[in-house]
This record gives sequence, C-alpha cells and structure tokens, in this order.
Amino acid sequence: MIEKMELLDVDKLIEEFESMTKDAGNVQRETLKKILEENGCAEYLQNLGLNGRTDPESFKACVPLVTHNDLQPYIQRIVDGSSSPILTGKPITTISLSSGTTQGKPKFVPFNDELMETTLQIYRTSYAFRTREFPIENGKALQLIYSSKQSKTKGGLIAGTATTNVFRNSQFKNTMKAMQSQCCSPDEVIFGPDFHQSLYCHLLCGLIFHEEIQFISSTFSHSIVHAFRTFEQVWEELCADIREGVLTSRITFPSVRSAMAKLLKPNPELADLIHKKCLGLNNWYGLIPELFPNVKYIYGIMTGSMEPYLKKLRHYARDLPLISADYGSSEGWIGANVNPNVPPELATYVVLPDIGYFEFIPLKENVEEAKPVGLTEVKVGEEYEVIITSFAGLYRYRLGDVVKVTGFHNLSPELKFICRRNLMLTINIDKNTEKDLQLAVEAASKLNTEEKLEVLDFSSHVDLSTNPGHYVIFWEISGEVREEVLEECCNCLDRSFVDAGYVSSRKINAIGPLELRVVQRGTFQKILNHYVGLGAALSQFKTPRCVGSTNNEVLQILCNNVVKSYFSTAF
Ligand code: AMP
Repeated sequence: MIEKMELLDVDKLIEEFESMTKDAGNVQRETLKKILEENGCAEYLQNLGLNGRTDPESFKACVPLVTHNDLQPYIQRIVDGSSSPILTGKPITTISLSSGTTQGKPKFVPFNDELMETTLQIYRTSYAFRTREFPIENGKALQLIYSSKQSKTKGGLIAGTATTNVFRNSQFKNTMKAMQSQCCSPDEVIFGPDFHQSLYCHLLCGLIFHEEIQFISSTFSHSIVHAFRTFEQVWEELCADIREGVLTSRITFPSVRSAMAKLLKPNPELADLIHKKCLGLNNWYGLIPELFPNVKYIYGIMTGSMEPYLKKLRHYARDLPLISADYGSSEGWIGANVNPNVPPELATYVVLPDIGYFEFIPLKENVEEAKPVGLTEVKVGEEYEVIITSFAGLYRYRLGDVVKVTGFHNLSPELKFICRRNLMLTINIDKNTEKDLQLAVEAASKLNTEEKLEVLDFSSHVDLSTNPGHYVIFWEISGEVREEVLEECCNCLDRSFVDAGYVSSRKINAIGPLELRVVQRGTFQKILNHYVGLGAALSQFKTPRCVGSTNNEVLQILCNNVVKSYFSTAF
C-alpha cells in the first residue's frame, strides 16, 4: 500500500511563528508557568521554596544560576537509576551525551519527550521559512548524519548523543517525510557501528540517487566538508562499486552490507558519468552541483566554530546557497534561522519563545554582578551569555555560549552566535576568545592562498611550561609550504591578536613569542577518532579550538604529531 504523505502546511507554520513572536513576553511567562507546573514536584524545585509560584520574579528570586557542574550530582542520581522526581516531574528515561569537545569529555544531560517535540518544532519552523525561499521537490536528501553508540547506564537509562536520541525517535522519520527531506541512506547506514563505513555508504547512496537529491545536510557543517574530503580519496572505489554493483570489501558490517545490497545494482553508465565529471573538475571546485544536478542548497550549522569550514564548503558548492541550520544544544534548542537568504557569516537565530524560558547575562558589565535580563529586555548590539530553563529539568542553566543581539523579529530577539564563553586564550591580562583565534587564523591563512595551500583544521593551547607562557597554534595544512611563508604566517598570527592586554604583554615580553606548530596530515582525524571512541558522534563533532592541559589526551595527540614549529618574531 502506498502511504499517503502529509506535507507540512508551510503558511500555517509561518503564521503561528509570527503570532507567537509578536507576543513573546507573554509566551515566555506562560512557558515558565508550564515548566514549573509540570515539574513543581521535582526535588530540585521543592528545595528552593517556590511553593507553587510560577511567576518570573519569584522564579528568579528562588532559583540560582547554575552550571553543569552544579547539577552533576542530581543528574548522576538519575543516571544511576533513581526513579524519584529529581529534576523533572516525570522520570527521565533517556540521557544525552553532549559532544564534550569543548570540555574534553562528554557531559550527561537529561532528554525527554518534550525536548524531542521542541527539536521537531524548530526543524519545522526553519523548514517553513527555508522552503518558502527555496522550494524543494519530493525527492531525497543526502543527510550526512551518524548515530553514536546507544548504551544503557548503570541505572538502565538509554544514553546516546542528543542527535542519536533524535534520529532514533520514530517521530524524526515522520517529520523528515513531511518535510520532503527523507534521508537517501537506509537506517543501517545512519546507525552503523563504524562512522568511516557509514560515511562511505552515505556517499554511495547519494550517488545512486544523484538525480533525486534535493539538498545536502548535516547537523554541523564540518561533517559535509569531511564527507567530500573523503570523497576526494575514495571516488574511484565508489565508481567501481557502482560499475559492478558490488560493495567494496572494506564495508564489513553484515547489516550495512545487506542494506546496501538492496540498493546497489550494476550501473556502468552512472559510473562512467561520475568518473567523467570528477576528471573534468579543477581541484574539485563545484563538485557538489556536478554530482547532484538537482540540489537546491546545502544545509547545516555553519556559524561559530563551523565558520572556518565555509571556504571549503563554498569551493565544493560553487554557487549553491549555503544555509545555516538552527541554534541549540544537547540541553535544549534556542532559535531558528528564519532568514535563509542570508549568507552563513551573517546568519542569526530568532528565539522561539515557547520552547524554554530564556534569560541573558549582559557581558558589558562586570560579570559577577551583572543581572540576567529577560528575552524581551535584551538590547540590540549587546552581547550576552545564554541561560536556559528547559522542559527537561534544567533551571537557569548557564549554557556558556556568547551571543549578540542583532535585532528583533517582532518581539523576539535575533541572536548571532559569537563563541563559547570558556574557550579563552589567556595568560595574564590578555583575553582572546574562540572568535579572536578564528580571525587570526583566517588572516594568517590568507598568506597561504598564493601557494594554493589550505589550513585544513586548527587548534590552540596556552603553554605555561615556558617562562613567560606563550600561545601555541596548531595547524594541519595540505601539502608542503615554504619555510618563509610559515614564518610569516606565525608572525601574522601573533600580530592578529589585537586585544590590548595581549599586545601590551607581548611588547614587554610578559607573554612569550607565539608558536605555530604544524602537525602531520591526519592529526585532526585522530582527534575526531578519539572523541568518537569516547562515545561522541561525528554528527555533533566540533574540533576543540583551545585545548587545555586537563585535556591531556587530545593535547598529546597534537604534540606527538608536530612536524615543524616556528616562533614569532613580530614583537
Ligand atoms: P552539543 O554540546 O553537541 O550539544 O553542542 C551545543 C553547542 O554547539 C552549543 O552550545 C553551541 O556552542 C554550538 N552550537 C549549536 N548550534 C550552533 C549554531 N547554530 N551556531 C554556532 N554554534 C552552535
């Protein structure tokens, strides 16, 4: 029987979003009320003396701002199987492992049906706006998505990355169908036990359905760049599989093999076509539209730590629109990209006022004393740290992200993601954020372009083992670069940190010369493998841009793979 597909009503979704954002203040009050009513019996809230009050004023007076560390003992009891209401009224049965790429190890956060529903809500909202600008036909999507291992905690709860919990939920598939965004790969590939094998099969499925693919997506855009970099290595093998209709022996998992066998038929014409197209490309420029003639856009989170991959993504995508996906975290979603026409560098996210209760700590003032303000009280042009109160047991939780308010959509703010707050290069009075590092790397890597070489990935570290301490920047680059160019890159990096504290410390040698360490090809792949080994999924992977001494294993991977190092002579 052919299933009748119910498509989403785009106009209705947009209308609902418009009316909700026009009433953002009231919707926030109502949302807080709902969260507190549903979870009022939870031990955590009971102990704070709210006594049934659900208004924002009482909430702020009784409930402290917290970090993940503060909630860790409560979450641990849930993980260990306590069934009493600890953080939520209804017991938590699933745990998300946040990517942990910033802290070094994954954190546990609660996941529940409400979080699932808000995830789908934000997917539907941005889809509605996206599809109005870039309509898609009823085809397929090459979704470069991967699941982590789902395990059981000691207490019997299901634990996996948040994206895994979402992909495994039956509602995910239904929503993708309703959004005409069905993944071209079978479930066995998405949930395959080895991401290298899944990646290969995703590419193969994409090629098999190449004319039907409407868009290419991933959670974070790093996965798209990673996939096409892999394509450059394996394209001949992919062609051979398509020609013969037989999957390479490198794919070893029986479930993946049998799922792929159902799709793979000998198709020498397609193999020839792909072969010809690949040989006709200059340095793989425009690879995506060549392979997938009906693709309308590329979709994935492209802001924040994903920005450095945009250049490569544009190279593969030629003139296809790049659309940044929404803003959220394992802890909860925050905002949707409702302006898909805007290039990713300028992408902003409108907060959905009914998916959580949001507060913002102004960063202009002295942090310790700064009082958080409500969603509708934020000011355009100012930067804030985001605080979430969610339907999944987090109350006034400091997410650690810095955002800038760029405007309002009706009464709900539009946020630009700036950086992680704790990712900071600092030795004494200097303060450089992830964003500052990103800009420095961007400036220095421009010196490389004449040589046609690219910085494939980068990270940093504060080395205090020298006296004075100094910044270390790790680069993985493609090919050989002349010594003089790298020396100049090193100086340029040093000069590009324009923070007054840094510059003055450098001038008086209170901070030593910046060091550029070039690492072997494949080093960042080793880091990725390391995180995947810890239970992270490729879907949520973010290269750690600053590696502290406590993240010893990653630091060791970087340090053990250094091939050359340069010290700045800029000061
Ligand atoms: P995870 O720890 O895997 O749940 O990742 C959540 C974090 O990813 C957020 O706290 C942000 O730092 C980052 N992130 C999520 N969405 C975006 C976005 N649209 N732009 C930039 N960074 C994002």
